Amino acid sequence: MLAALPELAVELEQGVSLARVTCLGIGGRTDLLRIGRHAAIPDLVNLLHGGGIAHKFLGGGSNLLVADEELPFVVMQLCKPEPEVAVEGNTANVDAAADLGRTVTFCAKRNLGGMEGLIGVPGTVGGALRMNAGAYGTQIGSYVREVRVYRAGERKIETLKGDQISFEYRHTSFGPNDMMLSVKLELPTKPYEEIIKGIRICNEKRRSSQPLGQKSAGCIFKNPPGASAGRMIDELGLKGFSVGEARVSDRHANFFINSGQACAADMLALIANVREQLHAAYGVNLENEVVVWNG
Ligand SMILES: Cc1cc2nc3c(=O)[nH]c(=O)nc-3n(C[C@H](O)[C@H](O)[C@H](O)COP(=O)(O)OP(=O)(O)OC[C@H]3O[C@@H](n4cnc5c(N)ncnc54)[C@H](O)[C@@H]3O)c2cc1C
Repeated sequence: MLAALPELAVELEQGVSLARVTCLGIGGRTDLLRIGRHAAIPDLVNLLHGGGIAHKFLGGGSNLLVADEELPFVVMQLCKPEPEVAVEGNTANVDAAADLGRTVTFCAKRNLGGMEGLIGVPGTVGGALRMNAGAYGTQIGSYVREVRVYRAGERKIETLKGDQISFEYRHTSFGPNDMMLSVKLELPTKPYEEIIKGIRICNEKRRSSQPLGQKSAGCIFKNPPGASAGRMIDELGLKGFSVGEARVSDRHANFFINSGQACAADMLALIANVREQLHAAYGVNLENEVVVWNG
């Protein structure tokens, strides 16, 4: 298999610690396959299937909690192309590997707004599409007109129209075997100054309420309908509660922090414990927003 990789423009990095490439700074080792050309993906996946090798897709690693041990799958990641975004009228054609924040500001400079709330959401556009990332009343799905996706189940690249995809609160109709390749976003025209003002407001809200600069995966739990998971955790006095070096943030109770050398087992135990306490107190069963890659 290794011999075919350069021909496919795939770069192999062996034994990569996923703690190094995730925002939580937790995760065991595996091989990382960096893909330089979308068209090579079907052949690459065929090679992996032929060798009985399981795979997962990595974006920017900002919403992942990865098991500690040697991992039983390889990880595929798209390389960033040049340019990452091309604008045509009100449409932005964006590669899935593009940085989400840079995409928002690139579009802003061309008087295309709407995505101000997404500023400060770390990671790639591919990851944002998969998760339907959102904040401050905006979600990326609202602007999606088309997504080019590799469907590993069917081994083919397809273009889906926006109305063929459902985007819900941190949930989409994409399957686990779909790899986002690129997206066509349709954005409203707005003066640059107005967009920048919105961006500054959102940045300030984030700075004043989130533990930025600490290792986290953003919100651990989805909010239950009509309620705030963070507020409920806070009401139970769980800010600062910890298991090993995994800790509920003092700043935002739905952010769980790796305060040193936390391992996945610590973080999973903290998640399970907080979930149990919330269930006992409020009768709600919190669903993970963080994506867990088990070993
Ligand atoms: C400080 C902080 C603040 C955050 N704030 C927010 C917020 O306000 N709102 C919000 O929604 N999220 C927030 N998050 C969570 C996270 O940034 C988002 O979910 C983000 O969109 C994930 O993108 P990513 O590229 O990092 O994806 P990853 O974490 O790499 O992956 C997440 C999931 O998407 C899949 N995936 C990634 N790329 C692809 C691809 N190309 N094709 C198919 N599947 C793919 C992965 O397999 C995985 O299942 C925050 C995280 C942090 C650390």
